[in-house]
Amino acid sequence: METKNAEANVSTPSNFIKNIVNEDLKSGKVSQVVTRFPPEPNGYLHIGHAKSICLNFELADEFKGRTNLRFDDTNPVKEDTEYVESIKADVAWLGFEWDGLFFASDYFEEMYNRALVLIRKGLAFVDDQTADEIRETRGTLTQPGTNSPHRDRTVEENLALFERMRAGEFKDGERVLRAKIDMSSPNINFRDPIIYRVVHAHHHNTGDAWCIYPMYAYAHPLEDAIEGVTHSICTLEFEDQRPFYDWVIRECEMPNVPRQYEFARLNLTNTVMSKRKLKQLVDEKAVDGWDDPRMPTISGLRRRGYTAESIRNFAREIGVARSYSVVDAKMLDHFIREDLKLKALRTMGVLNPLKVVITNYPEDQVEMLEAENNSENPEMGNRMIPFSREIYIEQDDFMENPPNKYFRLFPGNEVRLKNAYFIKCNDFIKDEDGNVVELHCTYDVETKSGSGFTGRKVKGTIHWVDAKSAVPAEFRLYEPLILDDEEGEEGASFLENLNPNSLQIVQGFVEDNMKSANPHDKFQFFRHGYFNVDPKYTTPDHLVFNLIVSLKSSFVL
Ligand code: ATP
Ligand code: MG
Repeated sequence: METKNAEANVSTPSNFIKNIVNEDLKSGKVSQVVTRFPPEPNGYLHIGHAKSICLNFELADEFKGRTNLRFDDTNPVKEDTEYVESIKADVAWLGFEWDGLFFASDYFEEMYNRALVLIRKGLAFVDDQTADEIRETRGTLTQPGTNSPHRDRTVEENLALFERMRAGEFKDGERVLRAKIDMSSPNINFRDPIIYRVVHAHHHNTGDAWCIYPMYAYAHPLEDAIEGVTHSICTLEFEDQRPFYDWVIRECEMPNVPRQYEFARLNLTNTVMSKRKLKQLVDEKAVDGWDDPRMPTISGLRRRGYTAESIRNFAREIGVARSYSVVDAKMLDHFIREDLKLKALRTMGVLNPLKVVITNYPEDQVEMLEAENNSENPEMGNRMIPFSREIYIEQDDFMENPPNKYFRLFPGNEVRLKNAYFIKCNDFIKDEDGNVVELHCTYDVETKSGSGFTGRKVKGTIHWVDAKSAVPAEFRLYEPLILDDEEGEEGASFLENLNPNSLQIVQGFVEDNMKSANPHDKFQFFRHGYFNVDPKYTTPDHLVFNLIVSLKSSFVL
């Protein structure tokens, strides 16, 4: 069989959509599954889209079907080729290869012709009412709407007016084409919905060829039918649209009949997940672009250091259901830890450096010490790291007056330096403001790591880097961008809920072997967590690391 996706044949958990597909294949209703991922190119993709991408691609893949990437570009005002390119890059990076690459705008002529079919059948009419008038006469959930005074135009009149709409004779909002269904239908979507509007705007794909554009609810079913999509999977808010979806397919006399199925969208704790809001964060410069590592965009997650595999595993684990839920963002962290556990080099980095002078270590001596690259994966081998008279440790690993159970350095105490020796603190120096700026320690040559020394034990092990050879590095530490979990999707106040500590930048040091690190290399810094070399701000002489996730988690899957 074809193995086009990142992990072809991977078995995904069962879900209700998969069961439907199984039945349809068994009963012969469909012979090959065709799905699509249909983003509107009006922003960058986010982790919610990743759920939909994994679902559509993996479903088709599992049943030897096809998946199209189709841009739902029917709204010229908000769409842009920058978004088209980013979406293609993100889907490919996630590990999926589309069969067809399509644009809804390529079907504008066919959509127009299908509207003519509706007009000729007396199922669509040109309305002169304003948008406000149309809204006001729509009725409510409990009250029927009222017919437009233009509803009974003849077919000839409607054909002529629709042609003039296309020809550019009307200004924006002056005329619309509406389906003619039932203004008293209990389903508001059946109350003569607008299917075409006049918009004099340049389109990223069709340029100025059109000044009328189809509405989403009319265009989407046609796009699916034109491509031979069998299972059109969307999120639950489109459930009420399904009868109109079927109406369009039937009345436009489309030879292929796709079926729409809805599932619950992904919501994550402490996360805004709507392109509109994410765009607002970008436009108001609350973040460093769509790929800011705090953003839940695919590009943000990638820059932060999440791997495609961890996102795919996450998408599978959360599953596909019809019930509303909010997923704990810690679950995503779980999957990146799992993915990097055996792959990432474990190394030492000091984020908030405090200098230590080892007073009994020979002045000009440098020795190379052996260190494991990954204690859980011996196949990753060992490396040699320099050690000499001056090193850096974390400021937090020393306290002048420690509380009970503090096992790190304090005057008179001894600790183990990871991969090196025991050192004992004898003295410290403070600056004018009373900050400790330097420790004086002695080391015990007998206690070398790996030497089998059993003379005595110490309770604390701390990390360090050799001061002379260490490479300066910037560490960017992240917290959730949004503080409040309770915020509803439509609340306008999320910008007021931004976490002021979502980004903290500190300057420290890493081992000298990190000089050769490349953008997107991933490391575990001992006792800190997993980090990714930032692709945007790293230069040949300035290393920048993004914290992907800390080591510890209270989250249990
Ligand atoms: P947003 O509301 O974030 O702007 P959207 O639904 O308007 O998203 P589209 O570009 O229309 O964005 O979405 C493309 C596909 O992704 C659709 O099929 C949509 O249902 C799906 N999708 C969007 N958001 C989510 C989500 N949070 N969870 C699962 N699927 C999603
Ligand atoms: Mg949308």
